[in-house]
Amino acid sequence: MKWGLVGASTIASEHMIGAIRAQSGHTVEAVLSSSAERGRAFATRNGIPHAFTDLDALLARPEIGAVYISTTNEKHFSQAMAAFAAGKHVLCEKPLALSVDDAAKMVEAARSAGLVFAANHHLRCAGAHLAIRQLIAEGRLGRILSMRVFHAVSLPEHLRGWRIDNRDAGGGVIADITVHDADTVRFHLGEDPKTVVAQAVSSGLGEGVEDSVMSVWTMPSGIMVQSHESFTHPYAGSGIEVHGTEGSLFAQGVMTQRPTGTITMTDKDGTVQLNYERHDVYGYGLKAFNRAVAGHGRPAADGVDGLKSLAVAMAVARSAHEGRAVDVDYKG
Ligand code: NDP
Repeated sequence: MKWGLVGASTIASEHMIGAIRAQSGHTVEAVLSSSAERGRAFATRNGIPHAFTDLDALLARPEIGAVYISTTNEKHFSQAMAAFAAGKHVLCEKPLALSVDDAAKMVEAARSAGLVFAANHHLRCAGAHLAIRQLIAEGRLGRILSMRVFHAVSLPEHLRGWRIDNRDAGGGVIADITVHDADTVRFHLGEDPKTVVAQAVSSGLGEGVEDSVMSVWTMPSGIMVQSHESFTHPYAGSGIEVHGTEGSLFAQGVMTQRPTGTITMTDKDGTVQLNYERHDVYGYGLKAFNRAVAGHGRPAADGVDGLKSLAVAMAVARSAHEGRAVDVDYKG
């Protein structure tokens, strides 16, 4: 399948172009940029045949079967809607949109056009998270009581643009990282957060947007989740802990774009380290996407998953802003 890239972005050049090309029979045909000069330079640097500044012109190319949208967050909605109208399958970056209502419109547009729509939630594609989920599902930890997600990192220098100073573009750590953590928690626990309580601050990088947030989520089953995201923590490391009646699991260095990290489990017999498969996380997601396009199965994270992770992030933002507990609104 031939792909069109909507957005001359860092994630496309650092991860997705390589991951698309690693899929047998898949090529990158075109890139869209709002700047003709940046688009041309991006195309040349990445060996892409065509660069466009007009989305409709890119979407009019019949040979393009799917688009990967990785523009700034405020653009995802209109670009995805245009892609569905043009009959293209869509792999969209998170957050899918700036509102759950818009995300719901995207899900409906894909459904009624019979097109594949996926959110690029890479963490659920990681070998570490697949292993953790299986262990939980097998009941090795007993009844799950609580989960802790620690995802406070240092935002790399080259990404310190719109994320830290542009609310209109969807900046802030909640839109950037809390959505991923919401998806990961849903993936592991198989249920959707019900109520959240949050506090957010700017701790050195955010200008007009939060760069750090802590929140507590209650799940319908009663499981408690604690989540911490930040752009300002150089040495905190990332990971998750899952605590159950029969054991506790500690996964360190697993909230990343690379197949890294260690997982240990402690129970009445002691502590053991778990082995897991270390594959490219984005390639794994693309494989599932391409299978879905071919009519087999569903994407790793589909549009509804993207909508739900956004709904949790919106509730976290609202709770932090209003200083009260907020029920997550999944819009039906
Ligand atoms: P970038 O800032 O690299 O790119 C976003 C947009 O910014 C591009 O589409 C481009 O616009 C514009 N841009 C890029 N470079 C420049 C420049 N030098 N000067 C002016 N404008 C520029 O963003 P990221 O790649 O970090 O993120 C893009 C999207 O991907 C976001 O939605 C983000 O949330 C998501 N993301 C997801 C990850 C994941 O693991 N799933 C990881 C990282 C990001 P134009 O296209 O018009 O040229």
